[in-house]
Amino acid sequence: MDKQYLYEKYEMIVGLEVHAELRTASKIFCACSAAYGGKPNTQICPVCLGVPGTMPVLNGQAVRFAIAAGLVTDCTIARRTHFDRKHYFYPDLPKGYQITQYDEPLCTGGFLTVETETGERRIGITRIHLEEDAGKLTHDGGVTKIDYNRCGVPLIEIVSEPDIRSADEARAYLRTLRERLVFAGISDCRMNEGSMRCDINLSVRLRGTTSLGVRTEIKNVNSIAFAGKAIVYEFARQTEILEAGGEITPETRRYDEASGTTVLMRKKESAADYRYMREPDLPALRITKAEIGEIRASLPMMPDAYRRAFASAGVSAQNAQRLTETPAVAAYFSRVAELFEAVETAANLLIGEAFPEGEDAPALPAESLSRIAQLQKEKKITAASARKLVALCADGSDPDAVAEREKMFVMTDEGEIEALVREAIAENPDVVRQIREGKEKAKQVLVGVVMKKSGGRADASVTRRLVDAACAAAGTIC
Ligand code: ZN
Ligand code: MN
Repeated sequence: MDKQYLYEKYEMIVGLEVHAELRTASKIFCACSAAYGGKPNTQICPVCLGVPGTMPVLNGQAVRFAIAAGLVTDCTIARRTHFDRKHYFYPDLPKGYQITQYDEPLCTGGFLTVETETGERRIGITRIHLEEDAGKLTHDGGVTKIDYNRCGVPLIEIVSEPDIRSADEARAYLRTLRERLVFAGISDCRMNEGSMRCDINLSVRLRGTTSLGVRTEIKNVNSIAFAGKAIVYEFARQTEILEAGGEITPETRRYDEASGTTVLMRKKESAADYRYMREPDLPALRITKAEIGEIRASLPMMPDAYRRAFASAGVSAQNAQRLTETPAVAAYFSRVAELFEAVETAANLLIGEAFPEGEDAPALPAESLSRIAQLQKEKKITAASARKLVALCADGSDPDAVAEREKMFVMTDEGEIEALVREAIAENPDVVRQIREGKEKAKQVLVGVVMKKSGGRADASVTRRLVDAACAAAGTIC
């Protein structure tokens, strides 16, 4: 069904809340391991289980990562901040409250510039605060199991301004945020493992009006693609209710992957329901200018800066995008780009023949890739040989030595090629007769024979010229 008229009549107002787990070794308020995937309930202690009388001790690395998150999103970092308790009951939260930040978040007032289908957009970031994760419930054949390993894993919550106007913008924002957090080493942002999760706040209003409609919240969407689909569905659901004369009610929903719809979870709580209060067991947190400066100085290059550098070195936009999917590949390729100017040739070889799995760096040494690209660019080896050489040198072998051994260097000696042309003519009288009868195309057969005899090493344009010359000469003789 065509819903285009709904998009013409209404606009969506979307804000995103992203939770990202920080890459600390231990949890935020105790020394338990924060690693993902451990045997259930083996990474727990009285502190993260919320046993009365235990005291939280703040993990300094979690604070440094949260500050770094603020810096890569252009936020202002608070010099003084504190923690609060947010009370609610749920079986995955044994303390009965979450330690979080309410009225004085660590980072405020940032933004991300994102690349959408219709150009660049600037999406505001209201705040980033530090908090603890809850445990994990697994519903399994009528039984619910609880794993408390995730209790107390440090999280940042990144709240955007309601600046997003389409599913495409939401996806672009999430992609940009994710790559910055990953490149800065703050979070691995594996949405499939729950280390990055997204809540969507969405309302609609008639185009041309400025008041905000009633919003709904879609909780814990666990992929960027699903976030886009949830937004498209929820926009349609709300506008259809309004078109039918109904009203939107504030509620918390979830995205159902199987049906591609959003489903009601509960009517929405308000801040008052959480009974926020100052966390009495943690002192106020003071952050010095020097500490912020140190974190800023330690930040690695961001993916968009890599893309700009690769583009100015002559790499296509599409390749630059692929080369900045992981920090390891981006850092590797910037070394390749320093070594020789054939960077687009090197990019094509890397992407086509030697792209690493997962988050690893390529096995082929950067110097080897650069040298192979240089040999290809200078036409000393063919493109096919270059591709083969990439595979043969992954073990660290020297490209020049392997090319020599595998007889890959292009034959440039005309005398040598001429000898092969004479052989080809002598061995293929039928083809020569066809050429004499005017079948120009048959010359290509002779070129093919010479290429084959040379093992693909004869320079194709030289071969073609020598075949032409030989045929002309043969024509006059016969
Ligand atoms: Zn613990
Ligand atoms: Mn939160």
